[in-house]
Amino acid sequence: MKYESIKTDSGRTTLFSVEEFYEKIVLENHCFICGAPPRSKEFNNEHILPDWLLAKYQLHSQIINLPNQLGQLYGKYTIPCCKDCNSELGDNVEIPMSRLLKLPYNEFSSALTDSYQNISLLFQWLNLIFLKTHLKDMHFYWSMDKRTQSVKIGTSYVWEAMHHVHCIARAHYSAAQITPQAMGSIFVIPGIQHVSIPQFYFHDNTAAQTILFRMDEKIIICVLNDSCAVFNVLTEILQKITSPVTHFQMCELFAIVTHCNLSIKNRPVFFSEISDKSGYQIKADLPHLEFDNIKAGITIGELLYFHVKDMIDENDSTRQFLAEIKENKRTYLFDANGEFVDHGNDLKLAT
Ligand SMILES: [Zn+2]
Repeated sequence: MKYESIKTDSGRTTLFSVEEFYEKIVLENHCFICGAPPRSKEFNNEHILPDWLLAKYQLHSQIINLPNQLGQLYGKYTIPCCKDCNSELGDNVEIPMSRLLKLPYNEFSSALTDSYQNISLLFQWLNLIFLKTHLKDMHFYWSMDKRTQSVKIGTSYVWEAMHHVHCIARAHYSAAQITPQAMGSIFVIPGIQHVSIPQFYFHDNTAAQTILFRMDEKIIICVLNDSCAVFNVLTEILQKITSPVTHFQMCELFAIVTHCNLSIKNRPVFFSEISDKSGYQIKADLPHLEFDNIKAGITIGELLYFHVKDMIDENDSTRQFLAEIKENKRTYLFDANGEFVDHGNDLKLAT
């Protein structure tokens, strides 16, 4: 059903229509929060990964790998944002989020369990990073060879699905309440700390709308669009993970979560409801939950393979090893009896 954008009396856009979101934010580089046109006010652009995080992990001069196999400096990885929205984002999202994410694992985990407001903030922040990453893909071409005609990476995305992510990402601006039905699955598990394992790691899957972060010993995996369906199904698997995981175990869990989300047969339908009584609420209609492995169109092994293949130098022995991952013959989290494989003693825990 088509609808118009909804504005407040003061002219602030509460809700962008899908069409206006696509035309102004995706195609025409308007401020991605308020929709102000370029040059209509002061813009200072927004880092896709926030500045506090780039500083904490010394990432400014490091390279992020893009889907076109080229690299981009984290420090220059920004999207159009007006100065006012940038500072509102800082005050309402980044400052409280940086405080939460700087907590040690146990305190971070308790802060989420104890407060829906904290979970809601984390969920908004993950949607924000996912949205910014994909909006940026409208600035890059698949091929940088100017002799050939190339299309922008983002043109292949389903932007209608990204509209919901946009609504969540700007909830602080629109004063939207993210209801529990619209909340996605969030998994927080501890990671082994070791010199061979990066302290910071970020990865996402566009089609599945899943995102993975590692910050020190905290690993966060989130499904943005499942109304907690994946969490409910995988609770049993998660309960088996009783101690910190390795980098490959983390990647495998991400593949399992991503595959589970891609297998949902009838997806939740998200919508915005605005009333005088309750204000703006982001809600979801939840269908009866059914899964179909074939619908995923990819196996867990293939997902894991595409995730880890660039981490491993290819030679005769690793080629065989990678082929086995792809064919689902290698697992890292559980042994043949389905028991969790604890690597805590193999890799001496960093102190
Ligand atoms: Zn703005």
